[in-house]
Amino acid sequence: MSAPRKRLTLSFDNGPFADVTPGVLDALAARDLRASFFVCGKDLRDPARRDLVRRARNAGHRIGNHTLTHAVELGASGDPAAPAREIDEAQALLGELAAPERWFRPYGAGGVLGPRLLSEAAVAHLCAGGYSLVVWNSVPRDWEDPDGWPARALADVEARDWTLVVLHDVPTGAMRALPRFLDDALARGIEITDELPPACVPIRCGARVGALDGLVAPAPAQEIPR
Ligand SMILES: [Zn+2]
Repeated sequence: MSAPRKRLTLSFDNGPFADVTPGVLDALAARDLRASFFVCGKDLRDPARRDLVRRARNAGHRIGNHTLTHAVELGASGDPAAPAREIDEAQALLGELAAPERWFRPYGAGGVLGPRLLSEAAVAHLCAGGYSLVVWNSVPRDWEDPDGWPARALADVEARDWTLVVLHDVPTGAMRALPRFLDDALARGIEITDELPPACVPIRCGARVGALDGLVAPAPAQEIPR
């Protein structure tokens, strides 16, 4: 009896860029793969970048909301207007590119999974707005190591049953290694899927369906008196 195949879900954040994203889309298309692209609302004001997002959508990829500004960690911001601005304004800019689903990926500096990602107010906002929250379980830090990230990503894939990797279709040079990474993963028998691992989607269509442990800043008003 053989072990079940490891699964890998690909996500690309912070793009698109004209010099990078078409190559990513070509590499995926050449292998008949689908992925998720999380884009920042501010970048959708540029018609050329919007066209690239549309191209990704038309190729069957999932398009998600990666905040308006990519500058506010919702769990670290004291601004009560931040959730509405960072989440809803980006969703409005996505418009038909993301419909009908409302996939949201928070901004966390350095890709760190922790309590700076979300506030209780942001969680309530996502639930009320019918959003789905998409986190991750692998950050091979492609932006720091354009040639070395595939080895770290493959190690992550081998270490668990289902990996949701965060890559970046941005001009670091890292995406030049994407075709090699995909071919190595496929050669190892890894199943590359566009389904999202349930453990990485703790809020689905506004409903809390999974654990948010460690991802939400403690709310000062809810401190336990002692
Ligand atoms: Zn990002």
